[in-house]
Amino acid sequence: MKVGNRLTLYIVIGLVAGIIIGSVLNPISDQTWVQWLDQYVFNLVGQIFLSLIFMVVVPVVFISIVLGVVGVGDPKKLGSLGIKTLAFYLATTAIAITLALIIALVLQPGEGQSELLNSSEVEEYRETELGGDTGEAVEQTFDQTIINIIPDNVIDAMATANMLQIIAFAVFIGIGIIAVGDKAKGLIKIFEEANEVIMWIVLAIMKYFAAIGAFGLVATAFIQAGFGAIQQLGMYFVCVLLALFIHLIFVYGAVIQFLGKRSFIWFIKGFLPAMGVAFSTSSSSATLPVSMETAQNNLGVRKSISSFVQPLGATINMDGTAIMQGVATVFIAQLTGIDLTIMQMITVVLIAVVASIGTAGVPGVGLVMLAMVLTAVGLDPAAIGIILGIDRLLDMTRTAVNITGDAAISVVLNEQQVRKESDGNARHAE
Ligand code: ASP
Repeated sequence: MKVGNRLTLYIVIGLVAGIIIGSVLNPISDQTWVQWLDQYVFNLVGQIFLSLIFMVVVPVVFISIVLGVVGVGDPKKLGSLGIKTLAFYLATTAIAITLALIIALVLQPGEGQSELLNSSEVEEYRETELGGDTGEAVEQTFDQTIINIIPDNVIDAMATANMLQIIAFAVFIGIGIIAVGDKAKGLIKIFEEANEVIMWIVLAIMKYFAAIGAFGLVATAFIQAGFGAIQQLGMYFVCVLLALFIHLIFVYGAVIQFLGKRSFIWFIKGFLPAMGVAFSTSSSSATLPVSMETAQNNLGVRKSISSFVQPLGATINMDGTAIMQGVATVFIAQLTGIDLTIMQMITVVLIAVVASIGTAGVPGVGLVMLAMVLTAVGLDPAAIGIILGIDRLLDMTRTAVNITGDAAISVVLNEQQVRKESDGNARHAE
């Protein structure tokens, strides 16, 4: 079974229909029948789809990483794949945020809008999200994230879908299987069979629910979207979308064409279904089973590479999120009337790259981590309240970019591996 062109088309139709119907109903969203339709039709099908894909995330990540590690075989090779993956992820995120800073500095989205800082949303955010505090809580959470990579309770890690912990445990199991060799042959077979079954479920969910589920999620999001706020924050909105677009087309385009030596059009065409699901769910984690399946079947990425590179990426590589954070930081600095110094901008790049490691792939977390970036350069994190209202729409778009970055890197690493092997074979034949 393969995610074919027809399914891609259905998902795109679902998304477009959701955007149109949601936008038409948005101005009359206070009417009872619209609320009814939203709750019992759009939201219902959307949430069922979301639960279905969340249902398979933990088993997919665990099983496929174990198999990925076993597939790579040699812990040294695994280490080098890990280092390359991390290097690519950090580099693309640093480029993403630099691009975001440049665009925001040129287009100046916050110029002449300082009155926004006095809006009630700012105080509300300070009280509700920061607990009257200014970001220390977020820093502590980040420390904890680093320490918590090794799970002290595996069942708890799985129950709470703690991706980094699940990845760490799966890597240990994979290395253990390699180390004991023949004695664990049966276990490998069990994992392989479990993988077949779980991937079949992923495809069935895609085939029967993705288009309608994406439609429901997008329709609900647009019915509830703060279009009024978009007008006031128009320039901020445009800057984020523009930076996301440029990053997607030019940076990933160059990565695929020059490093992967493949066509970018082929890449986008093949990966579109996963991008559609990311757009509708606003969650890299929820989209993970679909994005792995799509990369393996439509882009020919080997299981041993996809299983390792994509789950790691869904957890630590968030270029779209970093872009939003870069634009938002400059925007809030401009509202405050502060010109960021070069040192402050370098700090933004570094902290946003680190923050993206600690950002979970679920809706809205990028905004929470933004508090850490703002605090690091001395800006008031409560200003996040200003952009909160329109963040859902941007979250959809940046999540699609986040998972595309992971897939682009997995294609590059796959192509490099394939070329290395065919060079090796050619040399052997000579
Ligand atoms: N929703 C994003 C993701 O899942 C994270 C964020 O930027 O809030 O990738």
